[in-house]
Amino acid sequence: MQLLDGKYVSEKIKKEIAVDAGKILATRGRKPHLVAVLVGHDGGSETYVASKMRNCEAVGFKSSLVRYEDDVTEEELLIKVAELNADEDIDGIIVQLPLPKHIDPEKVTEKIDHRKDVDGFHPINLGRMQRNLPSFIPATPYGITMMLKEYKIETSGKHCVVVGRSNIVGSPMSILMARNTYPGNCTVTVCHSRTPDIKKFTLDADILIVAIGKKNFITADMVKDGVVVIDVGMNRETSTLTKSGYKLWGDVDFEGVSQKSSWITPVPGGVGLMTIIGLLKNTLASANKEVYP
Ligand code: NAP
Repeated sequence: MQLLDGKYVSEKIKKEIAVDAGKILATRGRKPHLVAVLVGHDGGSETYVASKMRNCEAVGFKSSLVRYEDDVTEEELLIKVAELNADEDIDGIIVQLPLPKHIDPEKVTEKIDHRKDVDGFHPINLGRMQRNLPSFIPATPYGITMMLKEYKIETSGKHCVVVGRSNIVGSPMSILMARNTYPGNCTVTVCHSRTPDIKKFTLDADILIVAIGKKNFITADMVKDGVVVIDVGMNRETSTLTKSGYKLWGDVDFEGVSQKSSWITPVPGGVGLMTIIGLLKNTLASANKEVYP
């Protein structure tokens, strides 16, 4: 078993991003600028946004945080997004999900100017991605493709099984793996909560990508020898054993599955770190007007 090491790959790519950000500063006198909008005080969201901000600073980006309490109205939020869309100093806008129940996440996502949608959630970006046109690719799937590239994992002709079909991970991931490009050219099966006997499919996977949010759901008896495993799951549990007071678990039982896999991502230290890289790369591409000249 070999590790798909998110720490190693993310640090390497961050250095490259920092060089590019330095060039933008030297030539244009400005830094790539990411704005995050955070509503409420959800523990997970606070952690993710803080990490995104920290990583922006680390690579020489400017980052700004716009905070609202849980009782912000949908209208107030949409007005703020419109303001950020119009601000020429801003390259990327993310609105951290989940949002409180009274706010429609679809409306907010669609309000973000697709040219600043560095999370890649806007229907225009998803549609363009599906057609293999330049687009912002959702950060987690994008990060996973960079990881597969770094380790030169062969994907062409392989059977890729994606468990989970969310708009932000499973669904775009399945599209990327089926595209006629590298990584891609897989035969893709998508499993979800209505799939009977998931094991029948996972047992046939050459590449298994799991994003469902269920601790240790995939066990050793569900995979074949030599499988490449990408574990997207981030299941937070309170713990007295860590300084932070919580521990992260993947959707894959690492101990058992790693006995059979050829390659596997750890949790933490795998996909989560690559997701940040996806976001930084999209923000850099936006600052360089690479996707929408
Ligand atoms: P989500 O929106 O809740 O979607 C979960 C998907 O899993 C749905 O498609 C659901 O099926 C499917 N599912 C749920 N239970 C299942 C079961 N027992 N068997 C088969 N399929 C099942 O989740 P998400 O946003 O994609 O996130 C998934 C996990 O990845 C979470 O742990 C999340 O924290 C983590 N995550 C990590 C990163 C990272 O950077 N590492 C980024 C994003 C998300 P239905 O569609 O039928 O309901």
